[in-house]
Amino acid sequence: NLRRTNHSVSGRVRVAVRLRPRNDEEMVADADFADCVELQPEFKRLKLRKNNWDSDTYEFDEVLTESASQKRVYEVVAKPVVEVGDVTPFFCMQILKSVLDGYNGTVMAYGQTGTGKTFTLGRLGDEDTSARGIMVRAMEDILANIHRDSDSVMISYLQLYMETIQDLLNPTNDNISIVEDPKTGDVSVPAATLVDIRSHHDFMELLRLGEAHRVAANTKLNTESSRSHAILMVHIKRSVTDMESEVTSENEHSVHMSRNSKPPVIRKGKLVVVDLAGSERVHKSGCMHKMSLDSIQCFVVLIFKLEICFFSGSEGHTLEEAKSINLSLSALGKCINALAENSPHVPVRDSKLTRLLKDSFGGTARTSLIVTVGPSPRHRAETASTILFGQRAM
Ligand code: ADP
Ligand code: MG
Repeated sequence: NLRRTNHSVSGRVRVAVRLRPRNDEEMVADADFADCVELQPEFKRLKLRKNNWDSDTYEFDEVLTESASQKRVYEVVAKPVVEVGDVTPFFCMQILKSVLDGYNGTVMAYGQTGTGKTFTLGRLGDEDTSARGIMVRAMEDILANIHRDSDSVMISYLQLYMETIQDLLNPTNDNISIVEDPKTGDVSVPAATLVDIRSHHDFMELLRLGEAHRVAANTKLNTESSRSHAILMVHIKRSVTDMESEVTSENEHSVHMSRNSKPPVIRKGKLVVVDLAGSERVHKSGCMHKMSLDSIQCFVVLIFKLEICFFSGSEGHTLEEAKSINLSLSALGKCINALAENSPHVPVRDSKLTRLLKDSFGGTARTSLIVTVGPSPRHRAETASTILFGQRAM
């Protein structure tokens, strides 16, 4: 029983699933039990075990097993969003849509806390370069493809927690607003620190700084980083001449004419990498999400939650927190559903996360989603809901 078969050949969101290996705790606790997930990478299928004799099967654009290397994950999930492709006549229409070509693109990781989102996106790989995650590899590719004298790469690094945007490169800047250009519809966060990246070393330093600020901010707020979204924005400006400018992009502007050669053009692309908040919060505050609950049940759940909050002071903001994490994750879900269905209306206004991503998905932008899952049968329900989120995006 194959649940879903439509590949996103033309769809605007490419979805990969990555399974992490059992960790030490699971080796012991789940020793007598089979994994709840089985992958068939050759068919791009995932089987989710229902019981000892039955499982549901799902297809993805890409299926990454426990043994998939960080390099392979980058190549499958992010490279098509980042890099200039080979200009072959057959593929040029398809490939020349990367952030280096002047388009916008997004790479996001969605999954339960502990399943490998940060491992996939944010690992620095200081000692072991093969361990580097998508952020570092993307920057390596970007730096390798630009001319240091005429082009620029600027980054900002933000945290979104309870519908508040904080600057991870300047912690005093803790309530940043989103500004939208009324003419072009482009979104920006003008108050965010923007740093010019000249080298791989610069970038690593900033990632480290951002991470340290994230830990400090979360200690101050008494929360965990799994409850907030980390958003890296990379703005690329390239000056392109001759052959390269044959293919035009919508973000380019002519600079000047020289007599014999074609005019150089400036291409502006934006890459956004989002390490989403742990998806488990969505289900723990059922009120916002379980559409099957009727209003009376919702009300009871709400009262119950309010009581918990009332009786335990330190848990006081948990309900609000869960609601706002839900708000942005569910708004994101609705947007990628709309994209998958080619709907003319993508409801980006519903949360800060989707407003920030407005010009980075849909339209001509490329979007890659990696859903991360663990093998433990104890987390089967969370795993099932993560898989469904990924399926709805296709
Ligand atoms: P998340 O960001 O989703 O909460 P992490 O990336 O922090 O999860 O991963 C949780 C733990 O699992 C970490 O110790 C990480 O090193 C380990 N881990 C995650 N994915 C893998 C993987 N593919 N291979 C090996 N270890 C992994
Ligand atoms: Mg994480």
